[in-house]
Amino acid sequence: MGDWFQTVGDVEATKEEAPRLAAAGLSWLVAAGIVAAEPHESCVLGKGPGYPPGPRYADAVTEPDERLALLWTNGMRISTCRTVFDFGQDEIRRAGCPACGAVVRFMDEERGCGDPLRHDAAAWQPFDAAIRQWFEGGDGVLACPECAAPVGLNDWRWEPVWGFGHLAFQFWNWPPFRPEFVTEFARRLGHRVVCVPGKL
Ligand SMILES: [Zn+2]
Repeated sequence: MGDWFQTVGDVEATKEEAPRLAAAGLSWLVAAGIVAAEPHESCVLGKGPGYPPGPRYADAVTEPDERLALLWTNGMRISTCRTVFDFGQDEIRRAGCPACGAVVRFMDEERGCGDPLRHDAAAWQPFDAAIRQWFEGGDGVLACPECAAPVGLNDWRWEPVWGFGHLAFQFWNWPPFRPEFVTEFARRLGHRVVCVPGKL
């Protein structure tokens, strides 16, 4: 069985704000008992340390799972790098324009049952360029191919959901979060967040 994760990604925090908000978010999670106060070296995948589930972690999830405490990989990792909040395996399939509603498809979805999906490189290319530009410090704004509205990377309606930003809280192998927890998380950060489930 592979490991899975949920990333709560702040899509509005600037590079300068990220360290302060990382500390504030952690303080809130510790005070609420969602994560433990003491970090642990090896409870997350990727660069550690991580924070194991706290005594009230069940408040954050839809269905608490007793097995979480027994898992080797069960912590929360904070990242303050410019990063894509991605979902591990799988592919981005579509992006919807928030201005005109047009949907850009990156996968050929009209093929027969059982055929592997084929990537549409021509449709993907401008998005790929915008993401690269964002990584290099740009704004990542891309004109909609349908209505020409300038749309930022975090404003496209992506399927599956992902996001782009400087602050991420990544929880390993936790049961799905309650929507109320994600809403409260966003309120505490004072920013819009995306909650991205992913699998390795
Ligand atoms: Zn449009």
